[in-house]
Amino acid sequence: MSKHIGIVGAGTAGLHLGLYLRQHDVEVTIYTDREPEAYRGMRLLNTVAHHAVTLARETALGVNHWPGQKFGYHGHYYYIGAQPKALEFYGDLHAPSRAIDYRIYQPRLMEDFLDRGGRIEYRDIRADEVSAISARHDATVVCTGKGPFGQMFAHEPAHSPFDRPQRALCVGLFKGIGERPIRAVTMNFAPGAGEMIEIPTWTFNGLATALVIENIPGGDMEVLAKTKYDDDPKAFMKLLLDKLRKHYPACAERIDAREFDLANSPLDLLQGGVTPTVRKSHAVLDNGRVAIALGDVQAVVDPVLGQGANMASHAAWILGEELVRHEVYDERFVEHVNLRRQDRVLGATRWTNFMLDNLKAMPVEFQQFIGAVSQNRALADEFTDNFNYPERQWDCFASRERMAAWVRSRLARQQPVACAA
Ligand SMILES: Cc1cc2nc3c(=O)[nH]c(=O)nc-3n(C[C@H](O)[C@H](O)[C@H](O)COP(=O)(O)OP(=O)(O)OC[C@H]3O[C@@H](n4cnc5c(N)ncnc54)[C@H](O)[C@@H]3O)c2cc1C
Repeated sequence: MSKHIGIVGAGTAGLHLGLYLRQHDVEVTIYTDREPEAYRGMRLLNTVAHHAVTLARETALGVNHWPGQKFGYHGHYYYIGAQPKALEFYGDLHAPSRAIDYRIYQPRLMEDFLDRGGRIEYRDIRADEVSAISARHDATVVCTGKGPFGQMFAHEPAHSPFDRPQRALCVGLFKGIGERPIRAVTMNFAPGAGEMIEIPTWTFNGLATALVIENIPGGDMEVLAKTKYDDDPKAFMKLLLDKLRKHYPACAERIDAREFDLANSPLDLLQGGVTPTVRKSHAVLDNGRVAIALGDVQAVVDPVLGQGANMASHAAWILGEELVRHEVYDERFVEHVNLRRQDRVLGATRWTNFMLDNLKAMPVEFQQFIGAVSQNRALADEFTDNFNYPERQWDCFASRERMAAWVRSRLARQQPVACAA
């Protein structure tokens, strides 16, 4: 008998899962609140970069419409410390990452899902409807993103050290920022001010630059998260350029002030904050069935390291494999899924939370680590490529001893082996 899986939410988590299941002839219904046509007129949802590991999943699903070789970027430039005296270095990715405006990406994948026989029901679902939905399906997955719907899953305090956003975000898609010699992300870490990530991003009008400006609450940059563009666009852009000149001059000097503005429309700006939170990976419903949490519903991270959608896609793939492999979807099933997905999901969560603290305080061991990586291209390449593998980053950062050992072991491998006489 064919299985029928219900998925609430058509974000990256729900779509990658739905497409995986359709590839394995499983019947799927996605319940979501937005039709594909609605995305074009929406405010910027986020500024997501997919790493090569996620692009490989898209290729396997037959939905990599924007191949990395054409649409991707190749590495990270780093500026660490107050500019202009910051440490500067570059690291390569083993294969390109790529950023497409989700207002283009998600509706396209919804169409792929429909083309492959998936069903979508468009309506706003309430948490108390999940029980009724679950009665129609063999298993039910909830991936409605970071909103309040996810509260049906219990909070995991052991993995949720913060009770509020750690950065005040001002995120936008901009035109008028010149590219660097290599198409790459630029990560600016400025203790006291915050962080700013520049991401080459494809949007409605072609290639633009996403600026993810992560501002320390109470710091000089926080005003950017609170000032409304719509009230006075020119004043907002002047304020932004002034702040970039002061804190991120390496970006400001590539800006053509006459052209610098939001890339498509006033909808290209997003302000707010994310409270990093991990939730239990399932809830037992009043009919005794389990609902499985996926994506941001289960673990949401601050966007500073670009991990949320990548880990959501990874978790969706594993859940897909397990849904295909198993017949019974109970709490034991959830244990099977968790054992396979948690290292990456918790690795990304812990590493991101660690960086939020350490980029602010810059403790000595972290400075030593960054110093070593900045001096050695092989270390910089490995650190950069490990954005694909956050569990490896956590293997490196989980303790002071690990940070030192990570550097030591790599430098030892680089030493020429002495030949016996
Ligand atoms: C500024 C910013 C930058 C980011 N940058 C990156 C990055 O570079 N790399 C990265 O990997 N991640 C990044 N992220 C994180 C990433 O956006 C999320 O982790 C990812 O989109 C989560 O996917 P999801 O499918 O769980 O949720 P979403 O993508 O939020 O999808 C939720 C789905 O549920 C639907 N829905 C919601 N409520 C209901 C309801 N009541 N009824 C029916 N349907 C509903 C929505 O319409 C949507 O289809 C960033 C986030 C932000 C905010």
